Amino acid sequence: MVETVSYAVSESNSRGRQKSEDSPQGRSEFQRDRDRIIHSGAFRRLEYKTQVFVNHEGDLFRTRLTHSIEVAQIARSIARRLRLNEDLAEAISLAHDLGHTPFGHAGQEALNACMKDYGGFEHNLQSLRVVDQLEERYAAFDGLNLCFETREGILKHCSLENARQLGPLGERFLNNRRPSLEAQIANLADEIAYNNHDVDDGLRSGLIELNEFDAVPLVAAHLQEVRHIHPDLPERRVVHETVRRMINTLVTDLIRQSEINIAAQRPSTLEDVRSAPAMIAYSTGVNEMQRELKGFLRTHLYRHYRVLRMSAKAQRIVSDLFGSFMEDTRLLPPQFQSLAEYDRARAVADYIAGMTDRYAIREHRRIFAVEEGV
Ligand code: MG
Repeated sequence: MVETVSYAVSESNSRGRQKSEDSPQGRSEFQRDRDRIIHSGAFRRLEYKTQVFVNHEGDLFRTRLTHSIEVAQIARSIARRLRLNEDLAEAISLAHDLGHTPFGHAGQEALNACMKDYGGFEHNLQSLRVVDQLEERYAAFDGLNLCFETREGILKHCSLENARQLGPLGERFLNNRRPSLEAQIANLADEIAYNNHDVDDGLRSGLIELNEFDAVPLVAAHLQEVRHIHPDLPERRVVHETVRRMINTLVTDLIRQSEINIAAQRPSTLEDVRSAPAMIAYSTGVNEMQRELKGFLRTHLYRHYRVLRMSAKAQRIVSDLFGSFMEDTRLLPPQFQSLAEYDRARAVADYIAGMTDRYAIREHRRIFAVEEGV
């Protein structure tokens, strides 16, 4: 393994775990975090959670699981090139969406609306709640007892009100400080992954047509190049050749600009990183191009009437479920019933957030369809 730079997160500058444990044998603390995340129940459920398309809409679309794996791949490459802690970047990436509700953003918005009077619902905070409290795998503690830096990376953003309740983890939001470079990388790798796979999925679904991308500079530039080099290539391959070039452009630009920023800030410790401005960034030109792509996907894909129609259905399922459980907590599975004794709304939100798309649909049917059995 390449030696990391002095301002990378390492076992020696880590703030460690909340509950102290023996050191791992034959793997690093951050590899252990990654392994715990992969073995968690919440990680397996990502397979059946929507990214943009609901899980049953097609077998080839991204799910939260394949999305998270793509994020981890991109984050690892960038971390390695910058000689940062690759294992940490990977662990954060694999965990970053663990708190997502079923049905993607539609589900999250619906649950947040239901939770309006009970402290709200935020998927980022929920991911942290999953690894800190909800996973039940160890005799000695709740959650996965991950290292501070992994948890810090999972909590990408958070309101000041919530930050005040989070102790050391919330401090950076209150003091306007940055997380590790590994966390910054995972954050941008998330964006690179979804912008690119949503181009691919958008085309595959037929909701967007390839020539519509002529108006989007980041796609158009690469598309033209592919068409020029391979004039007779079938469209599916044109798409893949284009998307892989886009990912390469974004990753390469991000590495180069981040190197420039790091050289200008000259951090020598992790604390220098935390007090400096964010150093992992695109160049201005590429940043603008990827913002344009994001805007295009918002109007042409995320707000496509067929996506919105599915979202409306999803929102109804989530709010129906919430209403029923709030009214009668005896409908909850036993472990959530006991949680509900302390905080009814939060227990209901935890249960719903943990559901996969198909589980939520089935549960809705079990509660509302008269002809459905137990
Ligand atoms: Mg994500």
